[in-house]
Amino acid sequence: MKKETTSVKDRQIDPAGGRSSDAGKKENSRLLRRLMLVGAAAALVFISIGGTIFYLNKTGRLSKVRSYFSSSSSSRAMGERSASGKKGEFYISSKDGSKTGGKIALKEQAAAEKDDDDEPFINPYALGEDFDVDDPDFSDPEDEIYPDDFDPDDYDPDTDMPKQMPKDKGGKKGSDYSLPDSQGDYDLTGYTIILDPGHGGRDTGCVFPFNAPEYNECDFTLRIAKRIKSQLEARGATVYMTRTDNSWVSLYNRIAQTHLICLDIAEKEGKLPFSKARADELRGLLQTSIDINEDTVASGGMGIMVGSGVGEDLNDLFEMEYKLDKVLFLSVHLNSSESRTLHGNSIFYVTDDSVIESERRQRRENSEFRRSDFPIRDEYYGRHGDDNQLLACCLYDNIVGNIPQFETNATPVNADNYAVLREHGLTGCLIETAFLSDDNDRAMLQRDDVIDTVAVSVSDSVKMYFIQKGI
Ligand SMILES: [Zn+2]
Repeated sequence: MKKETTSVKDRQIDPAGGRSSDAGKKENSRLLRRLMLVGAAAALVFISIGGTIFYLNKTGRLSKVRSYFSSSSSSRAMGERSASGKKGEFYISSKDGSKTGGKIALKEQAAAEKDDDDEPFINPYALGEDFDVDDPDFSDPEDEIYPDDFDPDDYDPDTDMPKQMPKDKGGKKGSDYSLPDSQGDYDLTGYTIILDPGHGGRDTGCVFPFNAPEYNECDFTLRIAKRIKSQLEARGATVYMTRTDNSWVSLYNRIAQTHLICLDIAEKEGKLPFSKARADELRGLLQTSIDINEDTVASGGMGIMVGSGVGEDLNDLFEMEYKLDKVLFLSVHLNSSESRTLHGNSIFYVTDDSVIESERRQRRENSEFRRSDFPIRDEYYGRHGDDNQLLACCLYDNIVGNIPQFETNATPVNADNYAVLREHGLTGCLIETAFLSDDNDRAMLQRDDVIDTVAVSVSDSVKMYFIQKGI
């Protein structure tokens, strides 16, 4: 799609915005345009050396556009630690949902990024010998080298840095979104939210203190999820919870519950993309995962969800769930940092890229994935990554907007590979409410007014997301 903003070139050459109202000027404009194209072509070949793209800023100086074309942009989308480049810890979920990583994973990522940077930069826009400025197929190079949403006004001409750091590549700030005044006591009737309070029972989640636990993540997540439920229901939403007490519910049980809820909604709304008989067949398969209530392949508890690729049964469910645009999935967790240096709120979501990149890595590095009896299915493309990212930004900015103490020094909004988000087709996020390991966060998490504010913020985020989507 062509960008709507006035191009850099128009701003530079024609202060009137590139408009040419006089026919007599057309020939001059054409000549000027040719000169500019030749200039732009020469400049592109010259300035692309070293992998940095420059543009002429409004004052005529060369400025750099760094972030959009960096060869490590995919790793940035996967989870750059912070805008300041400060390194913290992070975790990668394994296929059974348990989290591993921390410093080791960080080291691995740093090595991967280094490898990326060692690759020679190949400028995809370098012009070949047969380049002809008169070639009608040669379109305005600016349309190709600048992303759709690029606007030079977003950059400080003195520092070349973005005036406002985006929270995530391509992501908008939640403060860009606001509820229309008329929404006031807005209504969520007709919308469904599936809440997943993390951990429970024998799986406490993270604890504090580490060696003599007094606080368990699973207690906080249930309490927070119940408050969120009350807020959403007060506004008319239909809410389901994957656990309602301190019992252990397997990860794939939770996802099976989610699929069953979606089957019911789709059937009720006449949105089943397959026959009722097929829906019942899928229900039977999902019920097995719930009955077994284990996370392992060996137990059969993972059922049609095996953590690597998507089989035919899961594919059918995904296709059905993509159409349920008034249903969201939210998993509620607390974070923890062994070094106790990190604090604040983080939101995780999945995209095709974040899932596939992570699973490829696991197949290389995890011997279990190489077992002959481990079912590996085709990589799957089709997740609504942009919707997940939008919801994530809404959540982070609402929560931190209302509770500034939860602004994080870790990763505000990140694409990753959490099984609880990966194995269904609903738009959804995982909320790491705050760090149990941080003294201030932990004190905040014990306050009813803080938990209520988290709940209101999540409820606001849900509505904000639907408004943004126009649903
Ligand atoms: Zn957790």
